[in-house]
Amino acid sequence: MSKRSSLELYRLKKLIEELESKEGRGTELVSLYIPPGRQIADAMNNLREEYGTAANIKSKSTRKNVQDAIESIMQRLKLFKIPPPNGLIVFSGAIPRGPPGSEKIETYVIEPPEPISIYYYRCDSKFFLDPIKEMLAEKDIYGLIVLDRSSATFAILKGRRVDILETITSGVPGKHDAGGQSARRFQRLIELAAHDFYKRVAEHAEKHFLAIENLKGIIIGGPGPTKNEFYNGNYLHYQLQSKVISIEDLGYTEEPGVYELIEKAKEVLKDVELIREKNLVQEFLGLLVKSSNYVAYGENEVREKLEKGAVKILLISAGIEKYRIKYKCQSCGYEKEATIANKHDFSRETCEKCGGIMYEEERKSIIEELAKLAEETKAQVEIISTETSEGKMLLSSFGGIVAILRYVNE
Ligand code: ZN
Repeated sequence: MSKRSSLELYRLKKLIEELESKEGRGTELVSLYIPPGRQIADAMNNLREEYGTAANIKSKSTRKNVQDAIESIMQRLKLFKIPPPNGLIVFSGAIPRGPPGSEKIETYVIEPPEPISIYYYRCDSKFFLDPIKEMLAEKDIYGLIVLDRSSATFAILKGRRVDILETITSGVPGKHDAGGQSARRFQRLIELAAHDFYKRVAEHAEKHFLAIENLKGIIIGGPGPTKNEFYNGNYLHYQLQSKVISIEDLGYTEEPGVYELIEKAKEVLKDVELIREKNLVQEFLGLLVKSSNYVAYGENEVREKLEKGAVKILLISAGIEKYRIKYKCQSCGYEKEATIANKHDFSRETCEKCGGIMYEEERKSIIEELAKLAEETKAQVEIISTETSEGKMLLSSFGGIVAILRYVNE
């Protein structure tokens, strides 16, 4: 899986949100998922068939809209000889702008972040977004070990899915097996058996977890002191040992223990997600205090630095709801840009050159506008959520827009 930047993810999520809000007048929005292994020509053949089938639709406007959508998709597919590495998703349909008859065909082509597994053609009143939404769900991978003196269970947590891999038993004798043996000798045997068991647990952990690319962390849990003995004894492969992010006390072992562990570790997992964001904001704050020439904040200052190519990292809050508007005067053609916080209403301005009316020519979210400037100058773009105190502060104290600079640019 290729690494997706926070900006790419943000853009895709925004697009999905937008597509989710769209609805056709009839069953006339087409969704097409083409897996990487599928020939474009195959998909084209299928679309031709669907086009033919659509001729039977009774409603004249629905029939026309479905066929127009299919035609639009075919035109877009012609641009591809073979599907991109992860396949291709196309959404197309007549989206109402106002009263009946105001619909316009909109077509969206998406190269998904992960391979598409199944070919889908759907025609519905909404776009079929479940597969792409599933791809965007958090998919970080964690290794889980639940152990006590008698058993160890290994599992993998991927997004919300849990795979229980195996349970091994220890053979370490319990206290009730002491029989007539001397307590000291028996204690020694138990320690040896436990040591062997921990070594086996580590071997199994290595087998299950070491090869996982992007393993975000390992969480260990179990009843009693065994889990700590295991962790403190450094039995795990050093690469795995360094990834242990939490040790949790549990009431259960084996499979129920795994589910208990996930519940207990939820807060920890969430924290791990947000640590990167926190660190980025902390880096900015640190510079602000120590060498404030290396930072910029606020929309205008940051835009100016971006235009000069002086920005190394642009941090933008995902919580910003502002738009950058390009206005054009209807009388003299004078153009200007301004930022507004209003999502829906189309605004107008009075021309400062001739007093005529200026209408909106173009509108972009401020995040998109600044991110584009950043990309043009190869600055790193980080979209920061408002889920951490740092993220909230970024939005409330700095308007959600700050930058770390490459060099001091007076
Ligand atoms: Zn004018």
